[in-house]
Amino acid sequence: MPIVRVALDVPLSTLFDYVASEKTQLEIGQRVVVPFGRKQVLGVAMAWAESSDLAAERIKPVTQVLDDVPPLPQELLTLLQFCSDYYHYPLGMTVLSALPTRLRAVEPIAVKQSLDYTLSEAGRALDVATLPKRRVVQQRILQALRQAPLSGAQLRSLSPSAPAALKAMIEAGWIELVDRKSNPLPQAGERTNEKRNLLLGAHTLTVEQQQAVDAVSQQKGYGCFLLHGITGSGKTEIYVHLMHEMLQRGGQVLLLVPEINLTPQLENYFRSRFPDVDLVSLHSGLADGERAQNWLKAQSGEARIVLGTRLSVFTPLPNLGLILVDEEHDPSFKQQDGLRYSARDVAIFRANQRGVAIVLGSATPSLESWYNAQSGRYRLLKLTQRAVQPATLPTVRCMDITKLPLHEGLSEPLLTAIEARLQRKEQSLIFINRRGYAPVLMCTSCGWLSECKHCAGKLVLHQKDRSLRCHHCGAQQRVPHACPTCGDADLKPVGIGTQRLEETLQARFPAARILRVDRDSTRNKGAWNAMRKQIHDGEADILIGTQMLAKGHDFPNLTLVGVISPDGALYSADFRASEKLFAQLTQVGGRAGRADKAGEVIVQTAFPNHPLFQALRAHDYEIWAQTLLAERQMAGFPPFVYQALLSAEGKQQGEVNAFLQQARTAAMELKLPVEVYGVVPAAMPKRANHHRAQLLVQSDKRKALGEFLRAWKPVLDELPASRLRWVLDVDPMEF
Ligand code: ADP
Ligand code: ZN
Ligand code: ZN
Repeated sequence: MPIVRVALDVPLSTLFDYVASEKTQLEIGQRVVVPFGRKQVLGVAMAWAESSDLAAERIKPVTQVLDDVPPLPQELLTLLQFCSDYYHYPLGMTVLSALPTRLRAVEPIAVKQSLDYTLSEAGRALDVATLPKRRVVQQRILQALRQAPLSGAQLRSLSPSAPAALKAMIEAGWIELVDRKSNPLPQAGERTNEKRNLLLGAHTLTVEQQQAVDAVSQQKGYGCFLLHGITGSGKTEIYVHLMHEMLQRGGQVLLLVPEINLTPQLENYFRSRFPDVDLVSLHSGLADGERAQNWLKAQSGEARIVLGTRLSVFTPLPNLGLILVDEEHDPSFKQQDGLRYSARDVAIFRANQRGVAIVLGSATPSLESWYNAQSGRYRLLKLTQRAVQPATLPTVRCMDITKLPLHEGLSEPLLTAIEARLQRKEQSLIFINRRGYAPVLMCTSCGWLSECKHCAGKLVLHQKDRSLRCHHCGAQQRVPHACPTCGDADLKPVGIGTQRLEETLQARFPAARILRVDRDSTRNKGAWNAMRKQIHDGEADILIGTQMLAKGHDFPNLTLVGVISPDGALYSADFRASEKLFAQLTQVGGRAGRADKAGEVIVQTAFPNHPLFQALRAHDYEIWAQTLLAERQMAGFPPFVYQALLSAEGKQQGEVNAFLQQARTAAMELKLPVEVYGVVPAAMPKRANHHRAQLLVQSDKRKALGEFLRAWKPVLDELPASRLRWVLDVDPMEF
């Protein structure tokens, strides 16, 4: 009897054997329903097996084969196998987590798009005249299907009682479902007329842009390109041209964008450039049904452009010919729970697997990518000029806050600059990475600080609703009337958050229309979109925002960006903090003066001569990257080493440490060429009453680290840890 190996959503690194009866006609890649324990669960058929370790009588049969959608292609299964191996995450959970929710359910999905109704052999043999006269609707359906297969929607339009008639006819065996003929791809030379107006509003490319487009489109087989272009240099325009090229050649394009960027605006933008092309988006904001449908359109080849966040890297794309990763440095490409994959890295593997080109675009590439471009593994493409006026980048000025008095955190030169914008009816953006009113509340007589009882963090003061909130665990309480320790009533907010900045600026500029954009003010669905429209329509004078405002939006009337208190990142324990800060400031600075007006960036810092600010003033990413690379090489940090982080958390600190110590001992005993560090508390040592600690392992060879992890992981799985949670994170981004 044929045995099939099935991937299931269980935390074990094995597949599960089932018997596929002869008549089920199971194909590899199909979803199946199988008994597991007392339940029926969904799985994916991964491979046939000659034999099983289980005794024959213990192997249960597959309950049901779901043939509602085509099987997952082998190429995708291979990709998922790679991810499972590389990230040391159970194969079954890897496979299942790649599926849209609807396809993870044990019921077949109601497919609207890609299946058509057609006459079965019996249906074709049927003589319409033999149907009873009163079955008019059945007769009509029969006649319609004689012409061509039809979708459910088309059949329903024949009559209100079509669904009932259809059901009866399916039960009678006259009608069956078939895969809609996925649009046969246009062959080169066909449909020339259509092609001509495929791409709307194309600019004549600059020399640099044209060189970049040529390099990528002439690539034969796999090639990874790093497109380093300053803000406004026309990277998006390059994507559009490359997409156009690939569509003409009959291929599909996958464009990955950071989480926050996938707004309706972006989708609409690409739709407007390719009005005749089937484009779908895939991100976590879609309803389950829509996501499943878009996914299926991609799988059938019908969707030619797939625009998505990190999860879309696992979309089956039979004609995939090009992958684009925009803002490749963005941390949101790394998944922070479950399968902790980097969508950028998986995309590179996928391009390699398929033998196609991939383009990583950024104004501030990740050091990993930059290093790979320097060493020749990636090909570097540069855009050094802005594509539109003003051709110049904004001027960057640093205000030394050790020498200037601050009014509620704002220096006089910044206030003056804002005032000038107000008079000229231009917009200013004040960038601060702290939401709330003030980072902490303090008692002036005894020094008490508002701390979270459950975390190793401070409670942030939110003035609007007079609450103290923990941004780590969500705990919330009312602001006390007096100090809980000494009873003094003089409690003072310390530090500045978005709300306090708003209050200060409003007091200073009473007539100004101020818009605060942070996670609190945009919590309601649609709020952010409404705000963006407000900004575009010139209904706001001063914008106060966290990083939400920094990314990828074009606000033509914005000419000033003020940066408040960026210094924390300069000397942070997180070795990536300054890399991230440079990227953020470059991006936020890139917002200033994109249309016909020159822009200005004012940074308030105690370290105006720090290399980061020097590079920022000179708009010199390369020198900054060089500085950072030298530092990283000396300190032995990525990209010069490869890391894996084992983190554990639990209610008892002793148990957490004991687990990690055992893991460490086991790691040393393997005697493999990796560096095993000591057990240390996590950056946030306590969160939501859980103590957190970690153990770092690294090697200067990716392969050596991989081999070590392969040996270590099974040992970890056996360690007693019933009251703990632990995860192994390969290429961790957060510590
Ligand atoms: P980036 O993605 O690098 O920040 P964009 O692709 O958004 O830059 O381009 C910035 C602006 O320049 C856009 O308004 C775009 O329409 C315009 N642009 C891009 N390329 C050209 C070109 N070759 N000629 C004229 N305008 C261009
Ligand atoms: Zn006190
Ligand atoms: Zn907390």
